[in-house]
Amino acid sequence: MKHPRLKIVVVLAATLFILGGAAMVQSASATTQAAPAFKSSIHSIDATLKAQMVKSGSWKPADPIALGKLRLIEVSFWGFDGKVHTGKLIVNSTWAAKLCTVFHKLYDARFRIHHMQLIDNYGADDEKSMAADNTSGYNGRIVNGRPGVWSMHAYGLAVDINTVENPWVDGTDVSPANGRAYLDRKLVAPGMIHSGDVVVKAFQSIGWKWGGYWYGGKDYQHFSSNGK
Ligand SMILES: [Zn+2]
Repeated sequence: MKHPRLKIVVVLAATLFILGGAAMVQSASATTQAAPAFKSSIHSIDATLKAQMVKSGSWKPADPIALGKLRLIEVSFWGFDGKVHTGKLIVNSTWAAKLCTVFHKLYDARFRIHHMQLIDNYGADDEKSMAADNTSGYNGRIVNGRPGVWSMHAYGLAVDINTVENPWVDGTDVSPANGRAYLDRKLVAPGMIHSGDVVVKAFQSIGWKWGGYWYGGKDYQHFSSNGK
């Protein structure tokens, strides 16, 4: 053989060309693979769901809102696993459709949400739901630490997003406790909410306000219709 080296180089080049081509095809198919379309739906509280809410205690007849004024919304969201999931949230009927538009914006921005399950899955226990990094809306409960004062969540007029990455903080008190790692709000991590970001803007687009803008103690997970 006159040019064995040349032959090796040619074979190598051809192999690389084929491999490169395959890689290009693969990356092209990955980039052209369209994300599933955002889906949302709004449902009345049916008998099964009512039974679940009464059993967990998230709704009681003495609570400040009738079940007829609440809606179950189901929305697509991007999970921390990079996959699309369907979340469930109970909210005030007045805001159900508008809140679906908020979650549509978060979906388009591929904002990551860890879990979005009804508070009933946590026995209507806000502490358990927060510690599990659950995103939730309605819960017939008082403001934590303020007996007799109904939370905006008890009217379906508040939503908490990624509670661990966005804890409530007042002085040295942090809730949930496992959210302490996210007290440094300069940190950038999936699921965190920052001033003026896509999450704050999405809620602002329907007139809802962020607890991260409160004076004194801050509730980085909390959005509500009246800012309380
Ligand atoms: Zn809240």
